[in-house]
Amino acid sequence: MKRKRSAKKKSPLESAWTVEKWIDRCAWCAKPIPEDVEVFGISISLKPEAFQEIDRGTVQPLLLMQAGKTVPMMVVSDDSPTRHAGKDAVFQLCSDTCAKALQSALKQELGS
Ligand SMILES: [Zn+2]
Repeated sequence: MKRKRSAKKKSPLESAWTVEKWIDRCAWCAKPIPEDVEVFGISISLKPEAFQEIDRGTVQPLLLMQAGKTVPMMVVSDDSPTRHAGKDAVFQLCSDTCAKALQSALKQELGS
């Protein structure tokens, strides 16, 4: 018996991109980061145009075409220290290896 799907406009994948899910996970390998491990962070600036589609204080999927990956970008809120430092979004990584991998993928993608 087939059930009728409710006519939601949201994609099924959308629920995967929540702050709750990603707050303690590595943006690159998606593994949970243990509490006693030092977290590596990468912060980036975004073009003001980007914020027509992005809400601050949320997690947004960032497609990295070259790397064939989508990573969770945490868009910081206006009152965040990161924002005051002139950055708009952060990624947290579990290791130096993941940080380097993401950094080079971002370079390829954003060209900066
Ligand atoms: Zn990792």
